[in-house]
Amino acid sequence: MPPLVEPAAELTVDEVRRYSRHLIIPDVGMAGQKRLKNAKVLCVGAGGLGSPALLYLAAAGVGTLGVIDFDVVDESNLQRQVIHGQSDVGRPKAESAAASVREINPLIDVVVHNEVLTTENVMEVFSGYDLIVDGTDNFATRYMVNDAAVLLGKPYVWGSIYRFDGQASVFWAEHGPCYRCLYPEPPPPGMVPSCAEGGVLGVLCASIGSIQVNEAIKVLTGIGEPLVGRLMIYDALEMTYRSVKVRKDPECVLCGKNPTVTELLEDYEAFCGAVSAEAQEAASGSTITAAELKSWQDAGENVYVVDVREPNEYEIVSIPGAVLIPKGEFLNGSALERLPQDKKIVLHCKSGARSAECLAIVKNAGFSDAVHVGGGVLSWIKTVDPSLPAY
Ligand SMILES: [Zn+2]
Repeated sequence: MPPLVEPAAELTVDEVRRYSRHLIIPDVGMAGQKRLKNAKVLCVGAGGLGSPALLYLAAAGVGTLGVIDFDVVDESNLQRQVIHGQSDVGRPKAESAAASVREINPLIDVVVHNEVLTTENVMEVFSGYDLIVDGTDNFATRYMVNDAAVLLGKPYVWGSIYRFDGQASVFWAEHGPCYRCLYPEPPPPGMVPSCAEGGVLGVLCASIGSIQVNEAIKVLTGIGEPLVGRLMIYDALEMTYRSVKVRKDPECVLCGKNPTVTELLEDYEAFCGAVSAEAQEAASGSTITAAELKSWQDAGENVYVVDVREPNEYEIVSIPGAVLIPKGEFLNGSALERLPQDKKIVLHCKSGARSAECLAIVKNAGFSDAVHVGGGVLSWIKTVDPSLPAY
C-alpha cells in the first residue's frame, strides 16, 4: 500500500538525534521519519486506548497530533489511562493529555479539541487530519467516526477492549472494508456491556493501543501489511493473537456499490438506541429519583429494592437494603419468582439502562406498580450519599 503522507522537506539536527533508533531501521529510515513529521493524526478520546496511543504517536514523532475529548479526569480512570496522573484529577482530559505529550516530545505540534465530537463538528475536525485513531468506547460515536472517515475518504485505526479481550483493525474504504461492513447493525441495546459496566484489565489498553499506533505508523509511512481487511483478536487470558479476514461488503450501505448512507446520520444515539423501545415505554411514568427512593425508605414504605447489576459491582458499592438479582435472571425469567407480591418493586442498576430493561420484563409479568431509579447507583452517590465510591 502506498504511503499516506508525503515526506517533510528535512529533519532538524535535534530530530535526527531524537529519532536515531527509527532512522537506522532500513524500512523507516530518513524518508519514513520525514513522513511521520509531516503527518497529522487525530486521536478520538484520551481514555483507555487514547492514553497509550497518544504517548507512542508523540514519541514516534508524528508532527501534528490532535486530541479530542470532552471529559475530565476521574480517579477511576487512573487504573489504565496512563497519560493522566493523580494531579490531573478534575482536569479536562484533552488538556491533561496534551501536557503529557508536550513533555514527551516538545518537537511536535499538539492540537487540543476540548469538546464533544458531534455530527455538527466531526467533518470539520476530521478534515484537518490524514488519519484518525479511534479510541472511543461507545457504539454511537464509533458509527459516527466510521461514517465521517468513509465520507471524507480517510483511513482510521479502530480498537476495542473489554475485560481481557481486545480487537483492532484498519478501516479504509478505498482499500478495504469499513466498520459497517464488519458490523452492519449496532448490537441490541443492553446486549453488549460497556467497560464501565463490565470492567477492563488496565494493561489491555496498552496491548490494543500499541497495535493501533503500530498500524498508524505503517499506513502513514507505507511499510508492511496494515490490518486493512483483517480483524486482530487478542485474548489476554489465553495469550493468543489471531487475525481473521474481513471482506468489503458490496451491499454495505455506506461503502458498497449502491450506498444509501451518503451523509452523516442525524442522530447516532437513536441509531444505536441507548435503551430499547420496550424499556423506554416501561420507564415512562415509572421512574423515580434516588432521593425519592431514600425518602420512601426513611418513611418506612413497603418497598422491595432490587439491584440488577452483577455481584462484583454490588460488592464495590450498593444501596442499603437492596437485594442483588442480576439482569440475566430477569432475562431467563428466574428472577420473577423471587419478587414479593405484596411490596412495591424498585429496580436499580448503575446508570438506569439495565434497570429499565428489567422493568419492562417485571411489568409484563404483572408487577404493574414497579418502578426503577433513574441514574441508578451513580445518582444515589451524587444526590444521597457522596461518601460512597463512584466506579
Ligand atoms: Zn462498508
